[in-house]
Amino acid sequence: MRLHLIPIYANGAVKMRLAFLFLFLSLCIPNQQGQAQINRRNRTPQIPPPTILEYKPQSTLVVPEHEVPRAKFPAVDFHGHPPALNNPNTIQSVVTAMDELNLQVMVQARGSSGASLTRQIQAVRAAGMQDRFVFFTTVDLRSVGPGSGTRIASQLEEDVTAGAVGIGEINKGFGLSTRKTDGSRLQMDDPELDVVWQTAGRLGIPVFIHTGDPAEFFEPLDFENERWLEMALFPNRRFNDRARFPEFDELMDERDRMLERHPNTTWVLAHMSWYTQDLGRLGELFDRFPNVYAEVGAVLYDLGRQPRFARDFFIKYQDRILFGKDSFQPDEYPYYWRVFETEDEYFDYYRDYHAFWKLYGMGLPDEVLRKVYYENALRIIPDMPRNGFSGDN
Ligand SMILES: [Zn+2]
Repeated sequence: MRLHLIPIYANGAVKMRLAFLFLFLSLCIPNQQGQAQINRRNRTPQIPPPTILEYKPQSTLVVPEHEVPRAKFPAVDFHGHPPALNNPNTIQSVVTAMDELNLQVMVQARGSSGASLTRQIQAVRAAGMQDRFVFFTTVDLRSVGPGSGTRIASQLEEDVTAGAVGIGEINKGFGLSTRKTDGSRLQMDDPELDVVWQTAGRLGIPVFIHTGDPAEFFEPLDFENERWLEMALFPNRRFNDRARFPEFDELMDERDRMLERHPNTTWVLAHMSWYTQDLGRLGELFDRFPNVYAEVGAVLYDLGRQPRFARDFFIKYQDRILFGKDSFQPDEYPYYWRVFETEDEYFDYYRDYHAFWKLYGMGLPDEVLRKVYYENALRIIPDMPRNGFSGDN
């Protein structure tokens, strides 16, 4: 278009120079959408592009690296999912892995109750490992109807008498998919369950609860969704069918009404309530409910992409955050130590379908590390074994 302005009397060479000048000027003028988008939209690869699964660019960045195989201070895994600890071999193999990582105590959060709980407690005592494991009991929230609350609360009392020191992990089915006897969805703030949460408060034990899943799982599965690959890989992680599942915010509102009604109960929200992509929202929750804590399992990918903001957040709320890992894969724990303890830059996360980005170290101060690794857990879990927490790595 602009080339029409070239005078027709110009000779060939001048015409060529002017043409380049106009071309250069037109490239310098961004349109309303910005230069980056123009380039991306107008260029087509001249060879077939790889699929999302094939493209694995290897970083060429050379920066200092500090692997952290052992936590700097002894840690409590508040969100432990080891196998059932009902025989000496399993117990010993888990303890061996814990020793290498500097995990001092693991909370068995698999959710057992009654006989399956007492069998594990007895096996751990028989193995002489009662300083290395504590047990949470689960509450059976299936088929809640009139009278269920009282029944669940009395099972809870029995399990606590048998040695359980908390409830959990209450899994994400609660609120998302669990049904009542009448067929309706069991809402988290159902008054039938008030007696259960009151009993936990009276017994002084924490309630460890996983609500929802990443907010993206509740959004349309399109090419702008950050978790497209994970949702594509796992059909059971798609909660965007409004005929079957509540909205993410609806679920959180229900949960908050439950928290609000039980200010004397200690609540620990698994996965930092899936608010790690918006830590300010978690801060508001902490400010609103002083009896609420958060656990960091399986959200490292979000903390490690905002190391400065996350560091400030951890410092501000250092009394409210607990270390937990979720799935028991010993080789994954060192990623947590590295993000929390170092200032390393641009390193890989352990699971590519969680995140397409690299991680950065938060460089947390020692006093914050101690609280997150064990001091907060020791404060809120009654009867926590206290041996082994004095020394550094
Ligand atoms: Zn879990």
